[in-house]
Amino acid sequence: MEIQTVGVIGAGTMGNGIAQACATCGLNVVMVDIDEAAVARGLAAVTTSLDRLVKKDKLTAEARDSALARIQVSTHYAALVPAQLVIEAATENEGLKRKILAQLDTLLPAETLVATNTSSISITKLAAATTRPDRFIGMHFFNPVPMMALVEIIRGLQTSDATHDAVKAMALRLGKTPITVRNAPGFVVNRILIPMINEAFFVLAEGLASAEDIDAGMKLGCNQPIGPLALADMIGLDVCLAVMQVYVDEYADSKYRPCPLLKEMVAAGWLGRKTGRGVYRY
Ligand code: NAD
Repeated sequence: MEIQTVGVIGAGTMGNGIAQACATCGLNVVMVDIDEAAVARGLAAVTTSLDRLVKKDKLTAEARDSALARIQVSTHYAALVPAQLVIEAATENEGLKRKILAQLDTLLPAETLVATNTSSISITKLAAATTRPDRFIGMHFFNPVPMMALVEIIRGLQTSDATHDAVKAMALRLGKTPITVRNAPGFVVNRILIPMINEAFFVLAEGLASAEDIDAGMKLGCNQPIGPLALADMIGLDVCLAVMQVYVDEYADSKYRPCPLLKEMVAAGWLGRKTGRGVYRY
């Protein structure tokens, strides 16, 4: 199936980034959110981002205008009917996503593909809550979507090869590099990244080195653009801890034991950049 129109549910950080990436690659986009204010914010974010690219000479003014003209916004899911693929990028809440998917099942043609951008909810579980588990898949974009090359394409147990191939082709059309992943907590990137960050907290707690030296070691020794502790402050210590807790619950393997220092900092409200203090002060 050729994808010409993409529906995006949620006009927040990820939804508007996905809408921008699709529209600049010549796809028609319908972006839906719960109210006029939310869709207006989403569209304004796309406009600001495209304007910045024009200023930096990375996009022509004509390309910006035609990308914006390809984005239609709505507060009704019925506007998604013309889409061949609908990407759900609403708030990370399983109950909410289930409700959205149930509504889509009553509105969309049977052949429409549905993807979710969830970071942590099982693709197999969400697929099973729809009437189209074979046409359901995970499309995990990274923030900021227009800049980040990676898309994890997550196959649920029932995802068909045709769905996988169509979505992978679509990711390539966006100029992204897709990797195919079988559904499991954390997929690939966060499964490796978050335990690495947790280990950095153990190293800090054991007094093996200062936070600055741990980060310098990983930057210079492993060619990482940012050290694991500084990255934890960006992601949010509470988010890192919650992800470790998911692994503990799902795998019941002690290798995912959250570092007590990480727990202690979260308990203190030191959540990272967003609270002005995490491992570092801001
Ligand atoms: P966000 O809070 O910026 O945006 C969520 C949007 O969903 C909001 O505009 C909200 O109004 C809208 N929404 C809520 N209920 C809705 C409904 N019933 N119908 C339509 N829209 C609804 O959140 P975000 O950071 O964009 O995250 C969205 C999804 O992407 C989540 O599943 C998250 O786990 C995932 N994700 C986030 C990141 C990230 O770095 N932010 C990275 C990868 C994946």
